[in-house]
Amino acid sequence: MAQKFIEGRIVGRTDHTDSLFSLQFEAAIEPFVAGQFCRVGLELDTEKGREIVMRPYSLVNAAGERPYEIVLIKVAREAGGILTPALHEAKVGDSLYVAPRANGFFSMPEVPDAEVLWGLSTGTAIGPYLSFMKGTEAWKKFRKIVFVHAVRSAAELTYRDQIDAITKDHPEQFQYIPFVSREDFPGAIRGRIPNAIADGTLEARAGIELTADTAHCMLCGNPDMVADTTAVLESRGLRKHKRKEPGHITTEAYW
Ligand code: NAP
Repeated sequence: MAQKFIEGRIVGRTDHTDSLFSLQFEAAIEPFVAGQFCRVGLELDTEKGREIVMRPYSLVNAAGERPYEIVLIKVAREAGGILTPALHEAKVGDSLYVAPRANGFFSMPEVPDAEVLWGLSTGTAIGPYLSFMKGTEAWKKFRKIVFVHAVRSAAELTYRDQIDAITKDHPEQFQYIPFVSREDFPGAIRGRIPNAIADGTLEARAGIELTADTAHCMLCGNPDMVADTTAVLESRGLRKHKRKEPGHITTEAYW
């Protein structure tokens, strides 16, 4: 049977807000495809006793980039959080458990060619997009990439340094469009992704039409955003992508 987990070590952390944070770790995991997730966990006391609790987190890394990095939000214990409060308390030098093989289909090999890739994300789901936008394949596959990161408050617009580096590397091909829903922030659209598609705000900002002829949309993050955005896109004639039946919408819900 495949090994379920191996031991890794936390080598760094970044606190973006009091609950949003990134962990960097080293572990002997197998090569992965940009956009995939790996299971990470700790040994904890739970209702069932002492056990190893593992959850999937997308890797923020380009395929060859080290140390490994995940971005996550602490779900308070009172709100049912088990692993994330413990990971939030973890310190550099602490050990953690990692599944040796990453998984998932939210990656370039699974997505059909199109003229424009629309990457539509919320919160911590920025991870998989950074993973493949830091590589080379996506830039050969699409003429343009529009990346939308939608958050509640401006402090949650994470990884601006990496976004700036991608903008510098692909000035003609790349557009970053931040959304902040609960406060005004210069340069950001105030509101939610599906509304901004429905009323044309997103296309106006990008200066590109979002049509079934030209677009592939990758949706990742809050499951309600994924569902509501899928419905708006379907009303425009885009349909879900399946291996056997190519379409325009690839999704990954985050919880
Ligand atoms: P969030 O509530 O997911 O909000 C992120 C953005 O998505 C906000 O701009 C929000 O807009 C928007 N949004 C919410 N519902 C939407 C919909 N139906 N259509 C379009 N956009 C929508 O915020 P978060 O801070 O990333 O996560 C919040 C909570 O989600 C956490 O506290 C946690 O409980 C849970 N979470 C769980 C996990 C997990 O793995 N278990 C991971 C991440 C988050 P509004 O401000 O208008 O709502």
